[in-house]
Amino acid sequence: MTIKAFGARAGDQPLESMEITRRTPGAHDVQIAIAYCGVCHSDLHQVRSEWAGTHYPCVPGHEIVGRVSAIGSHVSGFKPGDLVGVGCIVDSCQHCADCEEGLENYCDHMVGTYNGSTPDAPGHTLGGYSQQIVVHERYVLRIHHPEAQLAAVAPLLCAGITTYSPLRHWKVGPGHRVGVVGIGGLGHMGIKLAHAMGAHVVAFTTSDSKREAALALGANEVVVSRNTDEMAAHAKSLDFILNTVAAPHNLDPFFNLLKRDGTMTLVGAPATPHPAPGVFNLILKRRSLAGSLIGGIPETQEMLDFCAQHGVVADIEMIRADEINTAYERMLKGDVKYRFVIDSASLGHDGGVEREV
Ligand code: NAP
Ligand code: ZN
Repeated sequence: MTIKAFGARAGDQPLESMEITRRTPGAHDVQIAIAYCGVCHSDLHQVRSEWAGTHYPCVPGHEIVGRVSAIGSHVSGFKPGDLVGVGCIVDSCQHCADCEEGLENYCDHMVGTYNGSTPDAPGHTLGGYSQQIVVHERYVLRIHHPEAQLAAVAPLLCAGITTYSPLRHWKVGPGHRVGVVGIGGLGHMGIKLAHAMGAHVVAFTTSDSKREAALALGANEVVVSRNTDEMAAHAKSLDFILNTVAAPHNLDPFFNLLKRDGTMTLVGAPATPHPAPGVFNLILKRRSLAGSLIGGIPETQEMLDFCAQHGVVADIEMIRADEINTAYERMLKGDVKYRFVIDSASLGHDGGVEREV
Protein backbone atom coordinates (compact mmCIF):
# COMPACT_ATOMS: atom_id res chain seq x y z
CA MET A 1 0.00 0.00 0.00
CA THR A 2 1.37 3.41 -0.99
CA ILE A 3 0.51 6.26 1.40
CA LYS A 4 1.35 9.89 2.06
CA ALA A 5 3.91 10.82 4.71
CA PHE A 6 6.07 13.72 5.85
CA GLY A 7 9.79 13.14 6.27
CA ALA A 8 13.33 14.25 5.49
CA ARG A 9 15.68 12.99 2.78
CA ALA A 10 18.82 14.13 4.65
CA GLY A 11 19.78 15.55 8.04
CA ASP A 12 20.25 19.06 6.71
CA GLN A 13 17.00 19.08 4.69
CA PRO A 14 13.57 20.26 5.86
CA LEU A 15 10.79 17.70 6.12
CA GLU A 16 8.66 17.45 3.00
CA SER A 17 5.70 15.53 1.63
CA MET A 18 6.62 12.07 0.32
CA GLU A 19 5.07 8.72 -0.57
CA ILE A 20 6.01 5.58 1.36
CA THR A 21 4.78 1.98 1.31
CA ARG A 22 3.32 -0.13 4.13
CA ARG A 23 3.25 -3.93 4.13
CA THR A 24 0.00 -5.84 3.65
CA PRO A 25 -1.04 -6.91 7.20
CA GLY A 26 0.38 -10.32 8.13
CA ALA A 27 -1.47 -12.84 10.33
CA HIS A 28 -0.67 -10.97 13.57
CA ASP A 29 -0.68 -7.44 12.19
CA VAL A 30 -3.03 -4.55 12.87
CA GLN A 31 -3.38 -1.82 10.24
CA ILE A 32 -4.16 1.57 11.72
CA ALA A 33 -5.56 4.69 10.03
CA ILE A 34 -3.59 7.39 11.86
CA ALA A 35 -5.72 10.27 13.15
CA TYR A 36 -3.05 12.22 15.07
CA CYS A 37 0.66 11.99 15.81
CA GLY A 38 2.51 13.88 18.54
CA VAL A 39 5.82 15.64 17.88
CA CYS A 40 8.59 14.54 20.28
CA HIS A 41 11.96 16.25 20.67
CA SER A 42 13.45 12.83 19.83
CA ASP A 43 11.92 13.22 16.35
CA LEU A 44 13.99 16.37 15.89
CA HIS A 45 17.19 14.78 17.30
CA GLN A 46 16.75 11.79 14.96
CA VAL A 47 15.67 13.50 11.77
CA ARG A 48 18.54 16.01 12.03
CA SER A 49 21.01 13.17 12.70
CA GLU A 50 21.95 14.60 16.12
CA TRP A 51 22.17 11.02 17.39
CA ALA A 52 24.33 8.60 15.41
CA GLY A 53 22.87 6.39 12.68
CA THR A 54 19.84 8.06 11.11
CA HIS A 55 18.65 6.33 7.93
CA TYR A 56 16.99 8.36 5.18
CA PRO A 57 14.34 8.98 4.16
CA CYS A 58 13.44 9.53 7.80
CA VAL A 59 9.73 9.70 8.67
CA PRO A 60 9.53 10.42 12.43
CA GLY A 61 6.57 10.06 14.77
CA HIS A 62 6.06 7.67 17.71
CA GLU A 63 3.02 9.17 19.44
CA ILE A 64 0.42 7.62 17.17
CA VAL A 65 -3.34 7.33 17.70
CA GLY A 66 -6.03 6.26 15.28
CA ARG A 67 -8.57 3.63 14.37
CA VAL A 68 -7.99 0.02 13.35
CA SER A 69 -8.68 -0.23 9.61
CA ALA A 70 -7.80 -3.92 8.99
CA ILE A 71 -6.51 -6.94 10.93
CA GLY A 72 -4.59 -10.09 10.07
CA SER A 73 -6.22 -13.53 10.22
CA HIS A 74 -4.79 -14.43 13.67
CA VAL A 75 -5.42 -11.12 15.45
CA SER A 76 -7.74 -11.69 18.40
CA GLY A 77 -7.32 -8.60 20.55
CA PHE A 78 -8.43 -5.91 18.09
CA LYS A 79 -11.14 -5.38 15.51
CA PRO A 80 -11.68 -2.76 12.78
CA GLY A 81 -12.96 0.47 14.27
CA ASP A 82 -11.16 0.17 17.64
CA LEU A 83 -9.39 3.30 18.93
CA VAL A 84 -5.74 2.39 19.40
CA GLY A 85 -2.28 3.80 19.90
CA VAL A 86 1.29 2.95 18.92
CA GLY A 87 4.25 4.30 20.87
CA CYS A 88 7.99 4.01 20.40
CA ILE A 89 8.24 0.22 19.91
CA VAL A 90 6.97 -1.86 16.97
CA ASP A 91 8.98 -5.08 17.47
CA SER A 92 11.40 -6.89 19.79
CA CYS A 93 12.83 -10.43 20.07
CA GLN A 94 9.83 -11.53 22.23
CA HIS A 95 11.82 -14.20 24.14
CA CYS A 96 14.67 -12.56 26.09
CA ALA A 97 14.35 -11.92 29.84
CA ASP A 98 13.40 -8.27 29.17
CA CYS A 99 10.62 -9.17 26.70
CA GLU A 100 9.32 -11.91 29.01
CA GLU A 101 9.03 -9.33 31.80
CA GLY A 102 7.18 -6.95 29.48
CA LEU A 103 10.20 -4.64 29.33
CA GLU A 104 10.52 -4.71 25.53
CA ASN A 105 12.02 -1.23 25.78
CA TYR A 106 15.19 -2.82 27.19
CA CYS A 107 15.33 -5.73 24.67
CA ASP A 108 18.63 -5.67 22.73
CA HIS A 109 16.57 -6.22 19.56
CA MET A 110 13.88 -3.63 20.22
CA VAL A 111 12.73 -2.05 16.94
CA GLY A 112 11.82 1.61 17.18
CA THR A 113 8.73 2.93 15.41
CA TYR A 114 11.06 4.88 13.15
CA ASN A 115 14.70 4.31 12.16
CA GLY A 116 14.51 0.69 13.38
CA SER A 117 15.64 -2.33 11.37
CA THR A 118 12.90 -4.07 9.34
CA PRO A 119 12.60 -6.33 6.29
CA ASP A 120 9.97 -3.89 4.96
CA ALA A 121 11.02 -1.29 2.39
CA PRO A 122 13.16 0.79 2.63
CA GLY A 123 14.90 -1.42 5.27
CA HIS A 124 14.19 0.84 8.24
CA THR A 125 10.93 1.64 10.00
CA LEU A 126 8.96 4.78 9.13
CA GLY A 127 6.90 6.52 11.79
CA GLY A 128 3.62 8.23 12.38
CA TYR A 129 3.91 11.42 10.33
CA SER A 130 1.90 9.38 7.81
CA GLN A 131 -1.59 8.19 6.95
CA GLN A 132 -1.39 4.53 8.01
CA ILE A 133 0.87 2.15 9.94
CA VAL A 134 0.96 -1.66 10.14
CA VAL A 135 2.12 -3.08 13.50
CA HIS A 136 2.25 -6.52 15.16
CA GLU A 137 -0.67 -6.67 17.62
CA ARG A 138 1.68 -7.16 20.61
CA TYR A 139 2.78 -3.52 20.25
CA VAL A 140 -0.67 -1.96 19.79
CA LEU A 141 -2.29 -0.21 22.79
CA ARG A 142 -5.98 0.19 23.67
CA ILE A 143 -7.37 3.68 24.25
CA HIS A 144 -10.20 4.13 26.74
CA HIS A 145 -10.32 7.94 26.79
CA PRO A 146 -13.35 9.58 25.13
CA GLU A 147 -12.85 9.87 21.36
CA ALA A 148 -13.08 13.68 21.62
CA GLN A 149 -9.80 13.64 23.60
CA LEU A 150 -7.94 11.48 21.09
CA ALA A 151 -5.52 14.15 19.85
CA ALA A 152 -4.50 14.99 23.43
CA VAL A 153 -3.97 11.29 24.16
CA ALA A 154 -1.33 10.94 21.40
CA PRO A 155 1.55 12.42 23.49
CA LEU A 156 0.92 9.87 26.23
CA LEU A 157 2.42 7.23 23.90
CA CYS A 158 5.94 8.65 24.42
CA ALA A 159 5.95 11.69 26.73
CA GLY A 160 3.43 9.96 29.01
CA ILE A 161 5.14 6.58 29.35
CA THR A 162 8.66 8.05 29.50
CA THR A 163 7.71 10.00 32.62
CA TYR A 164 5.24 7.47 34.11
CA SER A 165 7.74 4.59 34.06
CA PRO A 166 10.48 6.19 36.21
CA LEU A 167 7.89 7.74 38.56
CA ARG A 168 6.55 4.22 39.17
CA HIS A 169 9.97 2.55 39.28
CA TRP A 170 11.18 4.97 41.96
CA LYS A 171 7.82 4.52 43.78
CA VAL A 172 6.71 8.14 43.72
CA GLY A 173 3.48 8.74 45.62
CA PRO A 174 1.89 10.49 48.61
CA GLY A 175 4.49 11.88 51.00
CA HIS A 176 7.14 12.22 48.26
CA ARG A 177 8.62 15.51 47.20
CA VAL A 178 9.40 15.27 43.49
CA GLY A 179 11.25 17.68 41.22
CA VAL A 180 10.51 17.82 37.49
CA VAL A 181 13.19 19.66 35.50
CA GLY A 182 12.26 21.19 32.12
CA ILE A 183 8.63 22.01 31.32
CA GLY A 184 8.37 20.77 27.76
CA GLY A 185 6.50 17.80 26.29
CA LEU A 186 7.92 15.28 28.75
CA GLY A 187 8.16 17.63 31.71
CA HIS A 188 4.55 18.80 31.57
CA MET A 189 3.42 15.15 31.57
CA GLY A 190 5.82 14.44 34.47
CA ILE A 191 4.16 17.22 36.48
CA LYS A 192 0.63 15.98 35.69
CA LEU A 193 1.47 12.34 36.45
CA ALA A 194 3.44 12.94 39.66
CA HIS A 195 0.56 15.15 40.84
CA ALA A 196 -2.00 12.44 39.94
CA MET A 197 0.13 9.91 41.89
CA GLY A 198 -0.24 12.11 44.98
CA ALA A 199 3.29 13.53 45.25
CA HIS A 200 4.26 17.11 46.16
CA VAL A 201 5.64 18.43 42.85
CA VAL A 202 8.26 21.14 42.40
CA ALA A 203 8.74 22.21 38.76
CA PHE A 204 12.10 23.61 37.61
CA THR A 205 12.20 25.76 34.51
CA THR A 206 14.57 28.12 32.70
CA SER A 207 11.53 30.08 31.46
CA ASP A 208 10.08 32.62 33.88
CA SER A 209 7.04 32.81 31.58
CA LYS A 210 6.05 29.20 32.45
CA ARG A 211 5.61 29.91 36.18
CA GLU A 212 1.81 30.29 36.24
CA ALA A 213 1.25 27.55 33.70
CA ALA A 214 3.30 25.05 35.72
CA LEU A 215 1.02 25.62 38.72
CA ALA A 216 -2.01 25.02 36.49
CA LEU A 217 -0.45 21.73 35.33
CA GLY A 218 -0.38 20.51 38.94
CA ALA A 219 2.95 21.72 40.33
CA ASN A 220 2.80 22.78 43.99
CA GLU A 221 5.81 25.07 43.58
CA VAL A 222 7.78 26.46 40.64
CA VAL A 223 11.47 27.37 40.67
CA VAL A 224 13.29 29.30 37.97
CA SER A 225 16.50 27.27 37.93
CA ARG A 226 18.71 30.22 36.88
CA ASN A 227 17.79 31.96 40.17
CA THR A 228 20.35 30.76 42.74
CA ASP A 229 18.37 32.06 45.73
CA GLU A 230 15.27 30.13 44.67
CA MET A 231 17.40 27.02 44.13
CA ALA A 232 19.10 27.41 47.55
CA ALA A 233 15.68 27.60 49.23
CA HIS A 234 15.01 24.03 48.03
CA ALA A 235 18.38 22.51 49.04
CA LYS A 236 18.18 18.90 50.33
CA SER A 237 14.38 18.88 50.07
CA LEU A 238 13.54 16.39 47.30
CA ASP A 239 13.27 12.59 47.28
CA PHE A 240 13.40 12.23 43.51
CA ILE A 241 14.12 14.37 40.45
CA LEU A 242 13.01 13.63 36.92
CA ASN A 243 15.25 15.55 34.51
CA THR A 244 13.70 15.96 31.05
CA VAL A 245 15.97 18.68 29.62
CA ALA A 246 16.87 18.20 25.96
CA ALA A 247 20.23 20.06 26.15
CA PRO A 248 23.51 19.48 28.02
CA HIS A 249 23.64 21.38 31.33
CA ASN A 250 25.31 21.38 34.74
CA LEU A 251 23.63 18.70 36.88
CA ASP A 252 25.27 19.73 40.18
CA PRO A 253 22.74 22.42 41.19
CA PHE A 254 20.05 19.74 40.94
CA PHE A 255 21.96 17.15 43.01
CA ASN A 256 22.10 19.72 45.80
CA LEU A 257 18.29 19.63 45.90
CA LEU A 258 18.16 15.91 46.75
CA LYS A 259 17.85 14.62 50.31
CA ARG A 260 20.14 11.85 51.53
CA ASP A 261 19.57 8.73 49.33
CA GLY A 262 17.68 10.75 46.73
CA THR A 263 17.86 9.89 43.02
CA MET A 264 17.95 12.03 39.90
CA THR A 265 16.83 10.14 36.80
CA LEU A 266 17.72 11.49 33.38
CA VAL A 267 15.23 10.98 30.57
CA GLY A 268 16.35 13.92 28.43
CA ALA A 269 18.74 12.65 25.74
CA PRO A 270 20.87 15.56 24.45
CA ALA A 271 23.14 14.99 21.48
CA THR A 272 26.25 15.87 23.52
CA PRO A 273 26.98 14.84 27.15
CA HIS A 274 26.30 16.84 30.29
CA PRO A 275 29.42 18.08 32.10
CA ALA A 276 30.51 15.35 34.57
CA PRO A 277 28.85 15.86 37.97
CA GLY A 278 30.89 16.68 41.06
CA VAL A 279 31.61 13.42 42.90
CA PHE A 280 31.17 14.91 46.37
CA ASN A 281 27.62 15.95 45.53
CA LEU A 282 26.87 12.24 45.20
CA ILE A 283 28.96 10.57 47.91
CA LEU A 284 28.30 12.98 50.77
CA LYS A 285 24.56 12.22 50.74
CA ARG A 286 24.62 8.74 49.09
CA ARG A 287 22.74 10.22 46.14
CA SER A 288 22.16 8.34 42.86
CA LEU A 289 22.17 9.32 39.20
CA ALA A 290 20.04 7.10 36.95
CA GLY A 291 18.49 6.91 33.48
CA SER A 292 15.27 5.51 32.07
CA LEU A 293 14.12 4.63 28.55
CA ILE A 294 10.41 4.97 27.57
CA GLY A 295 8.53 1.95 29.03
CA GLY A 296 7.43 -1.57 28.11
CA ILE A 297 4.14 -2.42 26.43
CA PRO A 298 2.25 -3.67 29.55
CA GLU A 299 3.32 -0.56 31.49
CA THR A 300 2.31 1.67 28.57
CA GLN A 301 -1.18 0.12 28.69
CA GLU A 302 -1.21 0.58 32.49
CA MET A 303 -0.25 4.26 32.00
CA LEU A 304 -3.01 4.81 29.40
CA ASP A 305 -5.57 3.22 31.73
CA PHE A 306 -4.28 5.30 34.69
CA CYS A 307 -4.60 8.46 32.59
CA ALA A 308 -8.12 7.52 31.42
CA GLN A 309 -9.16 6.93 35.05
CA HIS A 310 -7.61 10.18 36.30
CA GLY A 311 -8.66 12.30 33.31
CA VAL A 312 -5.03 12.99 32.35
CA VAL A 313 -4.21 14.10 28.79
CA ALA A 314 -1.50 16.30 27.28
CA ASP A 315 -1.84 20.05 26.65
CA ILE A 316 -1.48 20.28 22.89
CA GLU A 317 -1.24 22.65 19.95
CA MET A 318 -2.57 21.09 16.76
CA ILE A 319 -0.63 21.62 13.53
CA ARG A 320 -0.82 20.57 9.90
CA ALA A 321 1.92 18.26 8.64
CA ASP A 322 3.31 21.04 6.45
CA GLU A 323 3.86 23.19 9.58
CA ILE A 324 6.33 20.69 11.05
CA ASN A 325 9.53 22.57 10.17
CA THR A 326 8.28 25.72 11.90
CA ALA A 327 7.12 23.59 14.82
CA TYR A 328 10.64 22.18 15.25
CA GLU A 329 12.11 25.70 15.38
CA ARG A 330 9.53 26.71 17.96
CA MET A 331 10.21 23.56 20.01
CA LEU A 332 13.92 24.46 20.11
CA LYS A 333 12.99 27.85 21.59
CA GLY A 334 10.69 26.23 24.19
CA ASP A 335 7.77 27.95 22.44
CA VAL A 336 5.11 25.25 22.72
CA LYS A 337 2.45 24.55 25.33
CA TYR A 338 3.32 21.73 25.61
CA ARG A 339 3.18 19.32 22.69
CA PHE A 340 2.60 19.80 18.99
CA VAL A 341 0.29 17.19 17.46
CA ILE A 342 -0.03 16.66 13.72
CA ASP A 343 -3.61 16.34 12.47
CA SER A 344 -3.49 13.59 9.85
CA ALA A 345 -6.43 15.23 8.08
CA SER A 346 -3.73 17.54 6.70
CA LEU A 347 -2.25 14.50 4.94
CA GLY A 348 -5.49 14.00 3.07
CA HIS A 349 -7.54 11.66 5.25
CA ASP A 350 -9.29 11.83 8.61
CA GLY A 351 -8.05 8.64 10.29
CA GLY A 352 -11.64 7.52 10.69
CA VAL A 353 -12.21 9.94 13.57
CA GLU A 354 -14.91 12.60 13.91
CA ARG A 355 -13.56 16.15 13.90
CA GLU A 356 -15.18 19.35 15.02
CA VAL A 357 -15.90 21.71 12.12
P1 NAP B 1 10.85 19.62 24.66
O1 NAP B 1 9.38 19.65 24.54
O2 NAP B 1 11.68 20.40 23.71
O3 NAP B 1 11.18 20.05 26.19
C1 NAP B 1 12.48 20.13 26.69
C2 NAP B 1 12.51 21.23 27.78
O4 NAP B 1 13.85 21.29 28.30
C3 NAP B 1 12.25 22.64 27.26
O5 NAP B 1 10.89 22.95 27.17
C4 NAP B 1 12.94 23.49 28.31
O6 NAP B 1 12.12 23.61 29.46
C5 NAP B 1 14.14 22.62 28.67
N1 NAP B 1 15.31 23.03 27.88
C6 NAP B 1 15.50 22.94 26.57
N2 NAP B 1 16.70 23.44 26.22
C7 NAP B 1 17.25 23.82 27.34
C8 NAP B 1 18.49 24.40 27.62
N3 NAP B 1 19.38 24.71 26.66
N4 NAP B 1 18.77 24.66 28.90
C9 NAP B 1 17.87 24.36 29.84
N5 NAP B 1 16.68 23.79 29.62
C10 NAP B 1 16.39 23.55 28.38
O7 NAP B 1 11.41 18.14 24.55
P2 NAP B 1 10.72 16.74 24.98
O8 NAP B 1 9.98 16.20 23.82
O9 NAP B 1 10.07 16.90 26.29
O10 NAP B 1 12.02 15.82 25.13
C11 NAP B 1 12.99 16.12 26.11
C12 NAP B 1 14.20 15.23 25.94
O11 NAP B 1 13.84 13.89 26.30
C13 NAP B 1 14.75 15.13 24.51
O12 NAP B 1 16.17 15.09 24.58
C14 NAP B 1 14.20 13.81 24.00
O13 NAP B 1 14.97 13.23 22.98
C15 NAP B 1 14.27 13.00 25.26
N6 NAP B 1 13.41 11.81 25.29
C16 NAP B 1 13.88 10.74 25.98
C17 NAP B 1 13.09 9.62 26.10
C18 NAP B 1 13.59 8.45 26.91
O14 NAP B 1 13.07 7.35 26.73
N7 NAP B 1 14.51 8.64 27.82
C19 NAP B 1 11.84 9.58 25.48
C20 NAP B 1 11.39 10.70 24.81
C21 NAP B 1 12.17 11.82 24.72
P3 NAP B 1 12.05 24.97 30.31
O15 NAP B 1 11.64 26.05 29.33
O16 NAP B 1 11.00 24.68 31.31
O17 NAP B 1 13.40 25.18 30.90
ZN1 ZN C 1 9.44 10.49 22.03
